[in-house]
Amino acid sequence: MRLLLVEDDAPLAAALTQALREQGFAVNHVAQGADALRAVTDDPPDLLVLDLGLPDRDGLDVLRQLRRAGGRLPVLLLTARDAVADKVAGLDLGADDYLPKPFEMPELLARIRALGRRLGATPSSLVEIGDLQLDTASLQVRRSGEPVELSRREYMLLSALAEQPGRVLTRAALEGKLYAWGEEIASNAIEVHIHHLRRKLGADRILTVRGVGYRLRPT
Ligand code: CA
Repeated sequence: MRLLLVEDDAPLAAALTQALREQGFAVNHVAQGADALRAVTDDPPDLLVLDLGLPDRDGLDVLRQLRRAGGRLPVLLLTARDAVADKVAGLDLGADDYLPKPFEMPELLARIRALGRRLGATPSSLVEIGDLQLDTASLQVRRSGEPVELSRREYMLLSALAEQPGRVLTRAALEGKLYAWGEEIASNAIEVHIHHLRRKLGADRILTVRGVGYRLRPT
């Protein structure tokens, strides 16, 4: 899943980016509201984490513009302010969740996972597809009950395909879900990860749709 983090506090942004990457998210980061609006238009994320106190404009304005444009992008607001008025305004503007600073990282991660599950309409952190089971909280994968050891990128690739089993994802879409902006991507990176996943999960688990991309066999 690809996440856009809008946060002007550089040390906090770095810590969040690190923690979220370890949780299997492809994280892109901007520090300004204008950059956030541009990024959402040019390269839409799956989820937005939005600080309210931004240097160039109020985070609530960013949210207002996004919602006015009709986007249903899930948004989690972060703020140092604990004013009820801000919280109410944010939720009324269409934020999906709200977390006051300072917060504990596990709580942020749990809230982000909860938002991600709403995207996939999966009620718990356990995703089952045929004999495969993904635990999106612990990042563990089981096949017929047996643990499968995956690298972080392999896990990210599998969870991207598992968000909507059966749906075809292009190589470009998969690259966006696995890599942040500016990360080095070998031209055959996705093919290599697919190869490893097939070796670990069974050759016919991931189907190639020629000239289009890949999809997970839904059962
Ligand atoms: Ca701020």
